[in-house]
Amino acid sequence: MGRSYGDVCLLQNGTLLRTPNLDRLISFDAQTGLLRCEAGVTLAQILDFAVPRGWFLPVSPGTKYVTVGGAIANDIHGKNHHVAGTFGLHTPCFELIRSDGTQLVCSPTENPDVYSATIGGMGLTGFISWAEVQMRPIVSRRIRYHSTQFVGLEEFVALSQASTQEYSVAWIDCVAQGRNFARGIFIQGEHDENPGPLTPLAKPKLTLPFDLPAFALNRSSVGAFNTLYYHKQISKQRSGFTDYEPFFYPLDRILQWNRLYGEQGLLQFQCVLPWAINTMGMTQLLKAITTSGLASFLAVIKVFGDISSPGMMSFPMPGITLALDFPIRREVSFDLLDRLAAITAEFGGRMYPAKDACMSAAHFRQFYPQWEQFAVYIDPSFSSSFWQRVAGLG
Ligand SMILES: Cc1cc2nc3c(=O)[nH]c(=O)nc-3n(C[C@H](O)[C@H](O)[C@H](O)COP(=O)(O)OP(=O)(O)OC[C@H]3O[C@@H](n4cnc5c(N)ncnc54)[C@H](O)[C@@H]3O)c2cc1C
Repeated sequence: MGRSYGDVCLLQNGTLLRTPNLDRLISFDAQTGLLRCEAGVTLAQILDFAVPRGWFLPVSPGTKYVTVGGAIANDIHGKNHHVAGTFGLHTPCFELIRSDGTQLVCSPTENPDVYSATIGGMGLTGFISWAEVQMRPIVSRRIRYHSTQFVGLEEFVALSQASTQEYSVAWIDCVAQGRNFARGIFIQGEHDENPGPLTPLAKPKLTLPFDLPAFALNRSSVGAFNTLYYHKQISKQRSGFTDYEPFFYPLDRILQWNRLYGEQGLLQFQCVLPWAINTMGMTQLLKAITTSGLASFLAVIKVFGDISSPGMMSFPMPGITLALDFPIRREVSFDLLDRLAAITAEFGGRMYPAKDACMSAAHFRQFYPQWEQFAVYIDPSFSSSFWQRVAGLG
């Protein structure tokens, strides 16, 4: 679906394999929730099939318009990382086709090394043709949520650590400085345990019909939006029920939301910093971002848990992850991303290839020291612009 933000899904001057026709569900065990499907099936298709039958995705990213193949190749994470780990953990088996025609069934017991290299392997080890996904049961589409305003990273960490809910994430204001520095809204939720509706209500989607002019997103407009958004929640705490769609996929309601950033487009930055350094590194990152005045209002922060992923190159590690968009301003945005990468490296963290368009080879090797071990599994006919850049082949 090309939903990765950078060049992990692109290959300049190469042939791009697209999977929209690999869209068939192969089998479903209604007793255990084990689904087998072709790799081009999207999470949206799976939800349409599974939710009315009382099953839900084990891990879901912030958009449902990604394929199962893409979810495995980037070993994606969701709001439940602290209790469920990554998507790969719920993918007990898949088939990988190599360019020499070999078809390998991969699981923790069959070709386990290829299984581990392919989960989070950025599409480089071969072509995933089908996969199994272990779904989880639900009795209602509804999510019981609870949101809390916070100011400062310490308050955010305390809320995350105190939360007992399955899903948690926070929106963070990356423009406010001074006493409002690092303010945000912590959102937690879980599936309603009381039986409720499982079929969807049809809701119209909005489409952004044109690119916004470049000046529309600036420090003042984003600052004003953030202040309104922060105070939209009048009391410090708010609770209620909501359908799972707005809870998990708020951006999916605005088709072509990326046009908000104008013709130049956007860069996304996502990193994780390990716990050992507490919140010092994250404070430095946020200071660099707020003083740049370049951040958009789309910024989230979350605590990752310590469930290890089966992927050799998976991104998550125990600690705090920050993800946000920047509108591209040629003269400044790339320099800022370099600075953020340097701070990430200094504090022992790593950046997420699925969200990256400019990580240097030196930083990649520092973030993923196991890269040479991984490179052994790369199919000789497969590559990406990302890989050529970070492996120094470009
Ligand atoms: C609004 C939004 C929110 C997001 N939120 C999150 C989030 O919360 N957590 C998160 O982890 N990610 C998130 N993402 C990123 C997204 O989940 C990943 O980039 C995902 O991999 C995209 O899937 P895709 O099908 O679009 O794959 P693409 O972007 O097209 O490809 C991604 C990679 O998968 C490989 N690939 C795809 N299909 C196959 C196949 N059949 N066989 C082998 N390799 C294959 C490609 O080669 C490429 O390397 C978000 C993206 C957006 C746009």
